[in-house]
Amino acid sequence: MRKTIAKAIPKKDTIKNTRNKTTVATASFDKPLIFSRDQHPVSRKLMSPNALKVLYRLNKGGFDAYLVGGGVRDILLGLKPKDFDIATNATPDEIKALFRNCRLIGRRFRLAHIVFGREIIEVATFRGHHENASKEERNCTKTSKQSDAGMLLRDNIYGSINEDAERRDFTINALYYSAKDFKVYDFANGVQDVKDKVIRLIGDPETRYREDPVRMLRAIRFATKLDMQISDSTKAPIKELSSLMANIPAARLFEEFLKMFISGKAVANFEQLRSYNLFGYFFPAVDQALNQDTQEQDFLLDFIMLAMENTDKRIINEQRVTPAFLFAAMLWYPLQKHIQQIKVTTQLTPQDVFFAALNEIMPEQQRSIAIPKRFQAVIKDIWILQEKLGRRDGKRAFKTFEHAKFRAGYDFLLLRAQIEATPELIELAQWWTDFQEVSDEARLQMIKGVRSPQGSKRRSPKKRRKPSAKTTES
Ligand code: ATP
Ligand code: MG
Repeated sequence: MRKTIAKAIPKKDTIKNTRNKTTVATASFDKPLIFSRDQHPVSRKLMSPNALKVLYRLNKGGFDAYLVGGGVRDILLGLKPKDFDIATNATPDEIKALFRNCRLIGRRFRLAHIVFGREIIEVATFRGHHENASKEERNCTKTSKQSDAGMLLRDNIYGSINEDAERRDFTINALYYSAKDFKVYDFANGVQDVKDKVIRLIGDPETRYREDPVRMLRAIRFATKLDMQISDSTKAPIKELSSLMANIPAARLFEEFLKMFISGKAVANFEQLRSYNLFGYFFPAVDQALNQDTQEQDFLLDFIMLAMENTDKRIINEQRVTPAFLFAAMLWYPLQKHIQQIKVTTQLTPQDVFFAALNEIMPEQQRSIAIPKRFQAVIKDIWILQEKLGRRDGKRAFKTFEHAKFRAGYDFLLLRAQIEATPELIELAQWWTDFQEVSDEARLQMIKGVRSPQGSKRRSPKKRRKPSAKTTES
């Protein structure tokens, strides 16, 4: 059985649970607490062999190199790290010179990616304090840049490990493991916070949130993911500073959306985000609708909750998920509202009404989260399929069944049927469930048994041909 930190750290080093009580040992950025190999469970067996290769190569090249962040923290917690991040005193160019499989990325935060097939080991040069940087460095927008609101637009001032630790976000993330001496270096009492299960920002919380508002999201995400509590001082300014979220570029918010909602903790993160008034920065239209008190909004909340529960379950069961599904679910009722509004003010055909509503809602959403085009296309397909699934006569059912996104559209229909629970939707969902399970012959019989839905007679009946068994899916 894997040793956890509680067992691994000897009594003499433990700090009592309450911070006011006498402490035996306290870390500082000048003088970290050092845990030798027999005092911690961070074993090389639990690390990615590629991360170890990178550590060894950097060391051999004459550089300091440490495993840092989630890789150390998660092993201390007895969890399997998601990825392995490395910090070093080698500059990005020096790292690149050591590894053939190295890509330098990022402008705001320059990093090296060492690529091993599907695994990427992220290597960051120790960050330093901006106030310690030379005048030249500070004036160079490539290395350091801060907005008027205090947000760090570039963070490429390099420094020592001690400075690097101080620039990390939370105490539990400022733990460094060396593959040279196998020790864990703890600069901010992170080991104790791991034991106490506390998320605590390093430094003054308000300043740190102003530097990078994403830290508010990270606090929530680590709390739900690691089942930890956010410390009072780290929690306190979040609501008040929530408007800083507006400064996060839409492309970065897409990345954060994935980490928040496509990680198996969507429901918990959604609830936390709402409680800190942060959810609206991801989905303004949804947030606005949720804050209104109508029956439609009850549907909306139930619907997105069910969609998130399903997503969480799928991730936990290691099934594939597409972010497009959750986007489609989030925006479905706001889309319907746009459709209703356009319907009463124009004479457009149902199809044109749909596209008009789509052209209103998507650009509005894109201002918050930059949804990549490939996902936008799937969102649209899922929505269009809702209408298509309702039309089952003639060849239509077979055509819909062959649609590349049929499965996502069908799953979406099931959710709608579960939430709205109208007899029509329940019948439709059941029909499609049966349709997938029976033979082609039986499918033809099912189609014959369908009564034409309202409005399906737009096309001249002459143009419609009887479906033949040959037209079924290949
Ligand atoms: P996980 O990878 O499991 O989500 P992690 O802690 O490794 O968690 P990463 O996003 O991989 O998180 O970042 C690696 C490390 O970089 C963090 O542990 C933290 O020390 C530092 N870091 C990341 N983002 C920030 C930030 N916005 N501000 C300060 N430090 C950060
Ligand atoms: Mg990581």
